[in-house]
Amino acid sequence: MNKSTPEPRVEMEFATSAPGYWAGVSPEQWSDWKWQLKNRVTTLEGLEKHLQLTPQERAGVILAGSKLSLAVTPHYFNLIERDNPDCPIRRQIIPHVGEGTISPAEMADPCGEDAHMPVPGLVHRYPDRALFLITDRCASYCRYCTRSRVVSGAGEQELHTDFDEAIAYLKKHTEVRDVLLSGGDPLLFSDDKLDTLLTRLREIPHLEFLRIGTRVPIFLPQRITPELCRILQKHHPLWMSVHTNHPRELTTEVRDALGMLANHGVPLGNQSVLLSGVNDSLPVMKSLIHKLLRCRVRPYYLYQCDLIQGSSHLRTSVRKGIEIIEGLRGHTTGYAIPQFVIDAPGGGGKVPLNPSYVFFHDAEKVVFRNFEGKVFEYPEVTEREVQAPVTHLSVLHEEAFTS
Ligand SMILES: *Cc1c(COP(=O)(O)O)cnc(C)c1O
Ligand code: SF4
Repeated sequence: MNKSTPEPRVEMEFATSAPGYWAGVSPEQWSDWKWQLKNRVTTLEGLEKHLQLTPQERAGVILAGSKLSLAVTPHYFNLIERDNPDCPIRRQIIPHVGEGTISPAEMADPCGEDAHMPVPGLVHRYPDRALFLITDRCASYCRYCTRSRVVSGAGEQELHTDFDEAIAYLKKHTEVRDVLLSGGDPLLFSDDKLDTLLTRLREIPHLEFLRIGTRVPIFLPQRITPELCRILQKHHPLWMSVHTNHPRELTTEVRDALGMLANHGVPLGNQSVLLSGVNDSLPVMKSLIHKLLRCRVRPYYLYQCDLIQGSSHLRTSVRKGIEIIEGLRGHTTGYAIPQFVIDAPGGGGKVPLNPSYVFFHDAEKVVFRNFEGKVFEYPEVTEREVQAPVTHLSVLHEEAFTS
């Protein structure tokens, strides 16, 4: 048995985000998602009212106006530590001067999405599924956003989604069976607008499967209302991928919002981005995925951070990601382990990267190790052996025929 000393457990408890820096606000206002959006922190003054910024952060905020807007909901802002510039929440959401440093390999469109857009707003890269970018707005803006070229409206490009053309394309392309709504954040649509769009998509008979990629349950859990859940429930099978990176993001409000979605039959997955100083550590990642399971969310992908311009201060080594996966497989619940992927630069799609367990593999055998490093062997099944029963049968048939 593997009896290693227990690892530190990082922020395993669910804590409320309220009231934090907003002590004077009533619970009614706090739980109103429109109040949360209206009261987002979007300016240098707004930040400095609560936090002591570093010079690197101050310079980053000034830079943000021409790249990716600054916006943080009060709910999410309350997860920021006042006096810790290395706070893992702060690193994700407060601009940093590093965003102005563009390394040679970095790109405005690192996943080559624009080159795979047959219709404005619709990315069709894989044979049977399409990515539908329905808005450029989010509840808060992640500093490493892979779509910062269009998201928030401050960057160099604008998103001009053509809904009629996109739906006509999906109707015509009967090979598409799965549509992923993303953006920006689809859950910033009003209930009516979302219902109308989902209804239009559901009318297309070959679309078997719809999913929504959203960070709203994390940034703005107040948006997950019973009315919204009832709308989503009408359009099943509808799955959802949320986006959390650090266990602190799973507050009691977020847990309850995810629980409401799960109770309305929405299967939940999580996508994380591997970020330096946020979650590039095994104990942090373990706490995150264990908390996700408690919220009925299955960890889906762990992304190597895309080569987005100005992200070098947030990127980690690929080796680190593989090391984290290696530290999970066998050591914890299989359901808790995400697939580590790199979205191939320039537009090759998601490619899985795994620790290597196989030492040797030929026609005779495969030699591999387990999570404890013990070595095992399995005899390879040859093509001839697989086909043997079929040959045997056909011989029998021949015999029956000739006798
Ligand atoms: C990620 C992505 C998808 C969905 O990929 P899955 O592996 O099926 O989750 C589809 N289209 C594009 C362009 C994507 O980037
Ligand atoms: S929520 Fe998603 S789309 Fe919006 S800023 Fe964050 S990573 Fe980008």
